[in-house]
Amino acid sequence: MPSAENLCSRCGEPAVARLTEPERRLCAAHFIEDVEARVLAALRRERMVFPGDRVVVGLSGGKDSTALLLVLHRLLPEFGADLVAVTIDEGIAGYREETLRAAKSLTEELGVEHAIVTFADLFGDDLDGLLVGREAQGCAVCGVLRRRALAEGVKRVGATKLATGHNLDDEAQSVLMNVLRGDLPRLVSDTSTGQPGHFVPRIKPLAVLSEKEIVTYLLLRGYFRDLPECPYAGTALRSEVRTMLAELEHRHPGTMTRLMRFRDGARRSAGSAASTGVLGTCRICGELTSGEVCRVCGLLGRDG
Ligand code: SF4
Repeated sequence: MPSAENLCSRCGEPAVARLTEPERRLCAAHFIEDVEARVLAALRRERMVFPGDRVVVGLSGGKDSTALLLVLHRLLPEFGADLVAVTIDEGIAGYREETLRAAKSLTEELGVEHAIVTFADLFGDDLDGLLVGREAQGCAVCGVLRRRALAEGVKRVGATKLATGHNLDDEAQSVLMNVLRGDLPRLVSDTSTGQPGHFVPRIKPLAVLSEKEIVTYLLLRGYFRDLPECPYAGTALRSEVRTMLAELEHRHPGTMTRLMRFRDGARRSAGSAASTGVLGTCRICGELTSGEVCRVCGLLGRDG
């Protein structure tokens, strides 16, 4: 028989997870309820969704975006908002095929409209082809192209908001990476507002949950899948920061939350100076850019 410390604080059933702030132990049903209630509170507090919104989830098929689709599928009807999904197929052999299958089967099961945008269609080649000779820059190149492909997906499905599966760990890693790169403008920039005619506002409803909580949520709802890792992932600064931050969080609990507070404070201090500044349009593709040629055209060598 489980000891009193291992019982759910709400119903007395055996607990499966222990959470802090406030300290509580929860059984499977109450853990799921707790996670969804925290996301619902964040959606309301940060006014992320309004009636009539058409929210598109950037669905990679991995754990975070799978959890995001599952949670929003339950919560969005309450806001009178629609849910759709878009998956970017970068063309990464041995990795993307399986996650794409997972994304298709989940959207079919939930009855969610699903669009797929491929790098090959948009940029003339798969990521594998575009990276030949510069494999070490995998994530840097992919990140720029993915953002453009997601913007294209948003247009295709007529969405008014783009929801991404970034969790607390991802957000804290980004803060630390921006500090390590000395990139203050990026640290304080806010993408939640969008740019009329170019980008819709971005929302990150799972930023209140840790990666561990997301994995637990998926396991308890029966949706956890062990999927392959992207072969380019290890080349990024992010993977070193992830390891370092996980260790710091373990030794000094609350480190990630404090990093988020630091970023929010930096954003408030920067105030209007943090806004994107004056943007022009790329002379090649017409998309917004701060220079003469956007990063996508630069990376694809269209400016030469
Ligand atoms: Fe792209 Fe890097 Fe993500 Fe792989 S890990 S899909 S290369 S951003």
